Amino acid sequence: MRITNLNPDTDIGASSWFVDLEGHRILMDAGTHPKREGIESLPLYPLIQKEELDAIALSHCHHDHVGSLPVAIRYFPKAHVLMPDLSYFLVERVLHNSVNVMTRQRDEIGIKEYPLYTHDEVDGIEPLFQGFQYNREIEWAAYHKTRTGVVSPTLEFYDAGHALGSAGIMLRGQKETLFYTGDVSFRDQTILKGARFEDIKADVLITETTRGNRGLPSGFTREGEIERLGQALDHVIKRKGCVLIPVFALGRTQEILALLALLVRAGKLPRQPIYIGGLGRVFTEIYDLQAHRTHRQHSNLRLTEALNLIVLDKGQLDQMKLTGGRIFVLTAGMMSENTAAHDLALRMVGDEKQAIFFVGYADPDTPGGRLKAAQPGETFFFSPTGGQLTRRCEIQDFDLTAHANRDELIEFVGQVSPHTVLLGHGQDDSRRWFEEQLLVRYPKIRVVQPVPGQSVQT
Ligand SMILES: [Zn+2]
Ligand SMILES: [Zn+2]
Repeated sequence: MRITNLNPDTDIGASSWFVDLEGHRILMDAGTHPKREGIESLPLYPLIQKEELDAIALSHCHHDHVGSLPVAIRYFPKAHVLMPDLSYFLVERVLHNSVNVMTRQRDEIGIKEYPLYTHDEVDGIEPLFQGFQYNREIEWAAYHKTRTGVVSPTLEFYDAGHALGSAGIMLRGQKETLFYTGDVSFRDQTILKGARFEDIKADVLITETTRGNRGLPSGFTREGEIERLGQALDHVIKRKGCVLIPVFALGRTQEILALLALLVRAGKLPRQPIYIGGLGRVFTEIYDLQAHRTHRQHSNLRLTEALNLIVLDKGQLDQMKLTGGRIFVLTAGMMSENTAAHDLALRMVGDEKQAIFFVGYADPDTPGGRLKAAQPGETFFFSPTGGQLTRRCEIQDFDLTAHANRDELIEFVGQVSPHTVLLGHGQDDSRRWFEEQLLVRYPKIRVVQPVPGQSVQT
């Protein structure tokens, strides 16, 4: 087996893994790098452009895994795109939204090569998409016309519990197997139940390492964290300030809305309008529509019915007074420029009545990460368009992650019992922690941190 890491950077970056398994070739994920701009944000596709690719498989519909799919298909126009069927309802919306964001960035920040693909291109690749249920074995190479009559390796999606439609991917050849975790949550979230990876064994494992640089404080529970969030919301509302919760439109938004709905149901939060963005609303409706087909909790909870959701457009938000205990659940989670969360934060940061609550990962080099790190009264650089700000508002960080804790992943490696582990989707210090721990716990396992473009032979 030959595996090439196409992430252009050594951090979480743009996920994309090329695999040659017994002469059959597949690409797993086709992301974009959230901190890079233009073509710099793309995976290193030119490295594999001469390969004859049978298929592209998607772990889930976050941008760092799917954002460059139309570009990948330019290199491999015949490759079928295989994904869990729940992702099938999401992928086009994500890509069309991406075109809109890139177009705005071209107009407002002057990134000339944007958009990297067009709405027409997204519509044009749609016939290549195929959705599959979890835990069905698919002969991936059989989809390729030139490969009829050969024994095809198979692929199977396993529910990863991270966001709607998320999956780990199992590749099985005649002699070798590979499992790729994608982004995984082993614990139940508020809506989604944890990953169903119980029976997985493989020769080679590619694992995410997002939380390698943070352990859990002793006594930590998710329930305690939710309780703390409820109380913090109550305080801000009582002082008539507003709360911004920056989130990603897919997954985080719905988890937070569910949490708010349960707080309202328990009488811990007054029923009041919750302001969200247009894309957040679309994915929330899809979560509701697919509720009965999803491995989830509270399957009768319909977010659009349980909460008074109000969709904001950009102009509307600028006009709005920041009084009266309003709650905003807006994109983007890391507050990148040209997003509602970024622009609203600009208005809130200098006002001590307002509060910004983080509920997920924010890279330290993003506006969200820098704001999270700023001390009260500190003047700090927020973003190129926002400039220097002085932090006076309340900032809180709640650990409601959709990623596996590092100890859970170490246990999982033991369960899978591979001869080789490849570490990806993590910052340098995260991957280093995993390498050190794995070498101590499982000295017989070969641990590799492939650098951008590196091929690993197993
Ligand atoms: Zn993700
Ligand atoms: Zn990711």
